[in-house]
Amino acid sequence: MTNFELKSRDLDVLWHPCTQMKDHETLPLIPIKKAHGVYLEDFDGNSYIDAISSWWVNLFGHTNGYINSKIKEQLDTLEHVILAGFTHEQAVRLSERLVKLSPDGLKKCFYADNGSSAVEIALKMSFHAHKNSGKKKSVFVSLTNSYHGETIGALSVGDVKLYKDTYEPLLIQSIQTPVPKDMSLEAAKIAADQFEELCSKRADEISAIILEPLVQGAGSMHMYHKEFLVLVHKICNRYDIHLIADEVMVGFGRTGEMFACHSANITPDFLVLSKGLTGGYLPLSVVLTTNEIYAKFYCDYNEHKAFLHSHSYTGNALACAAANATLDLFERDNVIEKNRVTTKYMSEKLSKFKELKNVASVRQTGMICAVELKGYRPEDRIGLKVYQYGLDNGVLLRPLGDVVYFMPPYIITKDECDKMMDTAYEAIKLL
Ligand SMILES: *Cc1c(COP(=O)(O)O)cnc(C)c1O
Repeated sequence: MTNFELKSRDLDVLWHPCTQMKDHETLPLIPIKKAHGVYLEDFDGNSYIDAISSWWVNLFGHTNGYINSKIKEQLDTLEHVILAGFTHEQAVRLSERLVKLSPDGLKKCFYADNGSSAVEIALKMSFHAHKNSGKKKSVFVSLTNSYHGETIGALSVGDVKLYKDTYEPLLIQSIQTPVPKDMSLEAAKIAADQFEELCSKRADEISAIILEPLVQGAGSMHMYHKEFLVLVHKICNRYDIHLIADEVMVGFGRTGEMFACHSANITPDFLVLSKGLTGGYLPLSVVLTTNEIYAKFYCDYNEHKAFLHSHSYTGNALACAAANATLDLFERDNVIEKNRVTTKYMSEKLSKFKELKNVASVRQTGMICAVELKGYRPEDRIGLKVYQYGLDNGVLLRPLGDVVYFMPPYIITKDECDKMMDTAYEAIKLL
């Protein structure tokens, strides 16, 4: 198919995610022919640095030779098998490795195939664990400005109006407690006090608090101090409330540690992972939990306490192989350590954005950098202008409202960082 053909045939039959389709009357789709490393290439031979890791999933570049080879190997061995009553080597190895890499005390892995489903699993497990202990706790707490996915349950505990408002009548009950307003220790303490106050009134109804540790992704890369996690964890223990750490975005090194919970030295009751889990190759997600939670479901069949939840593709062998290959790369290439160098380099470049008069502030947590703009109205759609400028100059940027951010694959070089951030700088300067 030619470039032109692809675009028109696409619009005849496809409905794209997160898109007002009418926008494509004026804004052309970009068919991608192939991709390698940090680059996406279109049909006219233009290449674009994937500064957003294709919606935060890619870790080691596109068509990574090593991950490719491991998926190909698996393809000729076992592509998929039902995970109820059966098992396979990739799932066993992956689970052992995740248990080892995640915070101490997380011992069991339950698989699904996307972040939202994994969030649903954590919510159901939390409720059900309390129920199996004879408690009826059916309310979930989350942070203001949070995002946990877009299926009904996950949407219910999110707080980004753009996604949520329309579906309000369909959603389950949830309460939002304030997220720390900035990265200061002070803000962390104030927000933790507010959560404590809520618990002191309603703890016997609250099943769990779900939060995105350190960085709220879809909430415009809002960041907060790790002390908040420490304090929330303590409060949860005091009130018999589960802590669900949704590390779908921040997991696998994004914040500088393998998992964001490590930076606060806490073990949540549930750790939710997806996105980077397969290096950005295949859909897979997992909920890790403790033996203590697991034990609440473990009994004779007729006691009816089992967690009867399933997805067709649970623990898919190809996806697990991609995940094992991804973890191999973390080990082989000492990635967390190497990322510190890239992080520092991005931090130096980030501070330059503060000179621009339409920049309100900049922030960074590990491999995530954000530039917040000021002086615009939503109808100005400045994000779209930055996006367009980026594309015209070889960089895929996809601002969230008036926040321009960088979340590149970890293999990005200094030169590519220069190109990515200098292009954004120019785009912002020209607004
Ligand atoms: C992306 C995301 C999800 C949802 O994952 P999907 O695979 O898109 O369903 C949940 N939580 C967070 C923090 C995310 O960033």
